[in-house]
Amino acid sequence: AKEEGKNNYQFYSPDLKVRSLERLMLENNLRKALERHEFFLHYQAKRNLKTGKIAGVEALVRWQHPELGTISPAHFIPLAEETGLIVHLGRWVLRAACTQGVIWQQQGLPPICIAVNLSARQFFDDNLINDIANALRESGLAPELLEMEITEGMIMQDAERAIRILTGIKALGVRLAIDDFGVGYSSLAHIKRFPIDTLKVDSSFIRDIPANREDRAITEAIIAMGKTLSLTVIAEGVETQEQENFLRDSACDQTQGYYFSKPVSPEEFTRFMLAHMVE
Ligand code: C2E
Ligand code: CA
Ligand code: CA
Ligand code: CA
Repeated sequence: AKEEGKNNYQFYSPDLKVRSLERLMLENNLRKALERHEFFLHYQAKRNLKTGKIAGVEALVRWQHPELGTISPAHFIPLAEETGLIVHLGRWVLRAACTQGVIWQQQGLPPICIAVNLSARQFFDDNLINDIANALRESGLAPELLEMEITEGMIMQDAERAIRILTGIKALGVRLAIDDFGVGYSSLAHIKRFPIDTLKVDSSFIRDIPANREDRAITEAIIAMGKTLSLTVIAEGVETQEQENFLRDSACDQTQGYYFSKPVSPEEFTRFMLAHMVE
């Protein structure tokens, strides 16, 4: 996983027995991590390609393990998902992100839309709409400043049910984005049935741009399709000036990636906002 930093814990062991032992340990630790306040959020900016300014921000959870250091969500989210802990963790993330949004406003920063990721189990949890409504009410964040990111795969699992859930979220006034778009199998016909606002082009299509002709064509096609459906299109994993230029020339609305900013602490994000005032 090239997303990991140097001191991030990874499952290096090729031995399956050791692996499952590690898993078991991690699972036990994960249960206690919430009470021990070991989770925290980092925030990654999204850039408006027309103005060059900040268009929004995505909350990304981190786990500060006392012995293992910072563990990537790519490792513990699947585990939390399997064990059902994700529902509790997700509630905490939602609350923490909404609260942070209000703190930024109290600091006098312009209002900014905060995106929160949902995994499948959270998305299909019966309490989801309640949890979102509670997080908004308790924090005082305006609903239009919250966006939920769900993947294509999740909504394709059960499209009819997904449409009902998405409609419920929209009714709260919250925005909806399809994350990792393009890696699933949704077509234009599919996507137009879902009440969404934003398409996030998966980073796998951006990685080899501008060199790869197919990836350029797919990305342009997704942007065109998004335009047809009046959706905001954002490209993820933008790491270079060349990628950013290609996307701007292709009339992509927004970019997100290391080229503009890595995910950072709330304090660093405050400084980043002051330097790149919101649109
Ligand atoms: P995602 O939602 O697709 O988030 C994008 C991931 O790509 C993040 O990894 C981000 O740090 C990383 N990234 C951003 N820009 C670049 C770039 O330019 N280059 C590269 N190589 N990577 C970039 P992260 O933070 O490790 O999160 C991994 C995944 O874990 C997320 O993928 C999301 O699916 C999940 N996740 C993160 N936070 C949460 C959460 O609070 N709840 C849930 N349910 N899932 C979460
Ligand atoms: Ca995301
Ligand atoms: Ca993504
Ligand atoms: Ca992803």
